[in-house]
Amino acid sequence: MSYRAPVADIAFALKYSSGFGAALAEGLYGDLDEDLVNSVLEEAGRFATEVIAPLNRVGDRQGAKIKDGVVTTADGWKEAYRDWSAAGWNGISGPTDWGGQGLPHAINSACIEMWNSAAMAFGIGVVLTMGAIDTLEAHGSDHLKKTYLPKIVSGEWTGTMQLTEPQAGSDVGALRTKAERASDGTYRLTGQKIFITYGEHDLTENIIHFVLARLPNAPAGTRGISLFLVPKFLINADGSLGARNDVRAHSIEHKMGNHASPTCTMVFGDQGGAVGYLIGEENRGMACMFTMMNQARLAVALQGVAIAERSTQQALAYARDRKQGRTSKSAEGSSPIIAHPDVRRMLLSMRAQTRAARAICYATAVAIDRARLSGDEDSRQAAHDRASLLTPVAKAFATDVGVDVSSLGVQVHGGMGYIEETGAAQHYRESRIAAIYEGTNGIQAIDLVMRKIPLAQGATVRTHIADLRRTVETVRAANNPAFGATGARLGEAVDSLERTTAWLLGRPPDDASLAGATPYLRLFATATGGALLADEALAAARAGTDAEARIAIARFFAEHLAPGSSGLEREVIEGGDSVSEVALA
Ligand SMILES: Cc1cc2nc3c(=O)[nH]c(=O)nc-3n(C[C@H](O)[C@H](O)[C@H](O)COP(=O)(O)OP(=O)(O)OC[C@H]3O[C@@H](n4cnc5c(N)ncnc54)[C@H](O)[C@@H]3O)c2cc1C
Repeated sequence: MSYRAPVADIAFALKYSSGFGAALAEGLYGDLDEDLVNSVLEEAGRFATEVIAPLNRVGDRQGAKIKDGVVTTADGWKEAYRDWSAAGWNGISGPTDWGGQGLPHAINSACIEMWNSAAMAFGIGVVLTMGAIDTLEAHGSDHLKKTYLPKIVSGEWTGTMQLTEPQAGSDVGALRTKAERASDGTYRLTGQKIFITYGEHDLTENIIHFVLARLPNAPAGTRGISLFLVPKFLINADGSLGARNDVRAHSIEHKMGNHASPTCTMVFGDQGGAVGYLIGEENRGMACMFTMMNQARLAVALQGVAIAERSTQQALAYARDRKQGRTSKSAEGSSPIIAHPDVRRMLLSMRAQTRAARAICYATAVAIDRARLSGDEDSRQAAHDRASLLTPVAKAFATDVGVDVSSLGVQVHGGMGYIEETGAAQHYRESRIAAIYEGTNGIQAIDLVMRKIPLAQGATVRTHIADLRRTVETVRAANNPAFGATGARLGEAVDSLERTTAWLLGRPPDDASLAGATPYLRLFATATGGALLADEALAAARAGTDAEARIAIARFFAEHLAPGSSGLEREVIEGGDSVSEVALA
């Protein structure tokens, strides 16, 4: 079964649980109105469904190929990319000064979800280009902006993000790629990067690499890293393509999934050094790269939502069609498996987790918009801190959801799920990478505990918990029997979150907090996702549309998934010793 973009669902989540609707109403986005938002979402949904989704299987089967350093994408990918960029999708939230449409990041996030549901191997390339735009706009010199931004914003050239080296993965500070100053103010780069997504391809005539490298005598670790723009083809003074730069793809990886996305080993400086242009200041490259990484982290989170959505659609269709066994309610003959309570439990779990992850991702995107657009400095700072707090939660939770939900998708298919023909297996294979790249989910959890909950002396996380509690109280006050135990179970999850947060904030960072980081992030996401689903259900009840179904999903999440919070709380607070002291023979 192919993918159909769930535009109405996406618009609902955007409007009611992410805070986008309120931001629109209060004028944060100027004269942007709901009609325009809906028509952008409709058109993105159509393009994703009709143009990109049919290429997903082709991309998986053919993959990208390399011969003599030239990478060729699968049949139809080049044309799809050409039409996608010509339609302006690359620059929808790009800066208007450089040809972008300046639409909210929240809308772009909804689109990113759709591109990635349609074909994750397509979506990962384009989101890196979008990150490159933000990085160059925020930190590049006027000359670099003028030379590169218009073509990157339009999608005529793509961008890459190059951190990883064999000895420098999670530990970026260990990188060794060298940059040396040249007499003309540019730099010469030598070294090797691995695992570079779309490092080489045939979609565009030029590729602009964003590369971290180290200057001679730079301080050790992340404080001695600089960021460089390294084009595949140098640009002449009149803006035309010039000589080929000294950077090439040596090989591409054979992977578990996302075969259509070329993952390249890149070699710099075979012939004396690749010409690079400094972005920002020397030795301040990590700060610049964080602009790209934060953008990419949310985009990867959206990949988790995307693959979960596609897996859920496929499992639902299969469960309606496949007949096996009889339920207590069926008369004669076998029932479609969707009628079996255990299959229903799987399907509800898939839908509830997908929507919770979507809500967290969109809420993060709205915080990013507020950090940029709010009228006063204090609100911008508070929104910036909220986006910082939510980003690792969105990244790790949504990508774990992608893996869990696509695994359930295989399970719903039974044996056919294990057979490539159905496509369920492809989703499962592809989901796995999102929990690894852009900072593994373990690194996200550590970031949350070590750097994010202490933000503003804990005020950001406390405000967030207070927001969750308000939702719980609203559910209770609604006194609607359809919510069942939603208020009670969510209330307990928020209590667990509050106690573990206080426990973590009240101790110096140590091995016990590090051991509890992953369960803490899961607990944080469970309480948050549950509350955001309840917000959606409350809004649906107020609007009188789709209320029964939305309350059922919020209730399922609260009654079946949120009770795990108390176990997670114990794991955080009591489990540190058993992690650190048990010998691993
Ligand atoms: C398909 C693919 C595409 C990619 N695309 C890009 C790209 O475009 N650009 C780019 O620069 N990189 C890219 N990467 C690299 C990716 O970001 C890294 O693989 C990832 O950051 C993990 O680094 P690593 O593989 O070296 O694992 P390691 O760092 O060796 O980690 C191994 C395990 O140890 C854990 N670990 C490591 N350090 C710590 C610590 N301090 N505390 C706790 N746990 C720790 C990790 O969480 C993980 O579970 C890509 C990778 C793949 C596979």
